[in-house]
Amino acid sequence: MKKHNFSAGPCILPQSVMQKAADAVLNFNNSNLSLIEISHRSTDFVEVMETARSLALEHLGLQNKGYQALFLQGGASLQFLMTAYNLLETKAAYLNTGTWSDKAIKEAKLFGEIIEVATSKSENFNFIPKNYQVPKDVDYFHCTSNNTIFGTQMKDFPQTAVPLVCDMSSDIFSRQLDFSKFSLIYAGAQKNMGPAGTTLVVVKEDILGKVSRAIPSMLNYKVQIEKDSMFNTPAVFPVYVSMLTLQWLKDLGGISVIEKENNKKAEILYNEIDRNPLFKGFVANTEDRSTMNATFNLRNEELKATFDDQIKQAGINGINGHRSVGGYRASMYNALPLESVQVLVDVMQATEKGA
Ligand SMILES: *Cc1c(COP(=O)(O)O)cnc(C)c1O
Repeated sequence: MKKHNFSAGPCILPQSVMQKAADAVLNFNNSNLSLIEISHRSTDFVEVMETARSLALEHLGLQNKGYQALFLQGGASLQFLMTAYNLLETKAAYLNTGTWSDKAIKEAKLFGEIIEVATSKSENFNFIPKNYQVPKDVDYFHCTSNNTIFGTQMKDFPQTAVPLVCDMSSDIFSRQLDFSKFSLIYAGAQKNMGPAGTTLVVVKEDILGKVSRAIPSMLNYKVQIEKDSMFNTPAVFPVYVSMLTLQWLKDLGGISVIEKENNKKAEILYNEIDRNPLFKGFVANTEDRSTMNATFNLRNEELKATFDDQIKQAGINGINGHRSVGGYRASMYNALPLESVQVLVDVMQATEKGA
């Protein structure tokens, strides 16, 4: 039986997508060839890439609004430097809400001056800073919508005079936002969209071409746009699976439908974390809690062996917290069924009864 997979990333994908992906590896579109052994320039694959790009824009409500969707390689981590390479002329502002923002800042510093507008680093990133000012004279403002490791999530985004750039790796397609507020969104596929190996970049074309430095072709968004995301051989399998997941989401009814499910799952788990005297949540302010990654701990570490054993017995996978936080992290991405959350809650209650 399939495990209850709470892995933070790579993570659970819909079973129906897995089946279709497996079929395509053996026989793609009844061609008697595998998806991964044909030319990426073949009509069948070009159609996959085009469908994936247009579905991404459609879900975000950004079709015909001057945006382009790209499927690149190098993970979200390459975007830490690629955004700066393409957009940073003199200085940029960053909100530092976790390990990934911190890494983005480190890379951007190679290209110009970085103003950290606010950070929660001194509190081990257990809250989202608010009431900060974004300077008007910066090239862009960068933030991370969901902090996968710490379990915090931005619920509001500042109104900025400068382009808003956001790392949405771990909550893209999970909730409705006014995506047109953002000039550039990037997301590694492996948290809510597909297998590791491709990164979605959604960029408003009018912010490009403004820096004076020469940009290597592979790292140049303009080149990638001109080449329809096929400047070189794309990650064919991850792009195909991402396309299937985006289609699955569309068939379900889109982001607004999955968001309700995600809210239900998060509510069930956080209610239990708050109710059950054995547990405590990691995030300081409940309003900052992530609907995707719930971080919590046992109040009494002596119960760890018992709890871990029951977790295992119940077929639950991937809920150990990141080493920088400890405790537990239950990631509840789009494809995680509500029943899996119920199983986890049952185990928490069973541990309470036995304690
Ligand atoms: C996982 C993650 C990353 C890193 O992604 P890679 O694809 O491994 O480079 C960056 N940002 C966030 C928010 C993440 O969750």
